Amino acid sequence: MRCPYCGSTATQVKDSRPSEDHSTIRRRRICSDCGGRFTTFERVQLRELTVIKRHGRRVPFDRDKLMRSIQMATRKRDVDPERLERLVSGLVRRLENMGENDVPSETIGTLVMEALKTLDDVAYVRFASVYKNFREAKDFEAVLGELAGPTPDAEDQLSPDDD
Ligand SMILES: [Zn+2]
Repeated sequence: MRCPYCGSTATQVKDSRPSEDHSTIRRRRICSDCGGRFTTFERVQLRELTVIKRHGRRVPFDRDKLMRSIQMATRKRDVDPERLERLVSGLVRRLENMGENDVPSETIGTLVMEALKTLDDVAYVRFASVYKNFREAKDFEAVLGELAGPTPDAEDQLSPDDD
């Protein structure tokens, strides 16, 4: 594995351990040339997924990006990081099991919203407001109306995706 700091390939694994649910192996690595430390994750990948964006642009599916958008939606909410890992792993597995390598971005957004709705109402509204790109207050109210939970902190907005 190439060192992300200096580009050297002389890196060594210092420690390997599985995640709690044994779906991931986490390896702590050190670079012999610059001493840089970094972590890699090993996961099962059943399928090479490509995301089809709204205007037909194709980008490789990026699990880390999906995780980041979910982390933003759950920011300052009391959500266990292990729970988020399982949520994302579950989403990826569902996408892989759909039987297509090409996945429309709407499909991913819909699955994420389903998952967040179960996890945390506020995270759901935050994600939905960005994902659905609400322009009108009534759209936002329509989503709020689906929820029995508390209203979200309006100032705590997500930065929009590059979509
Ligand atoms: Zn290095």
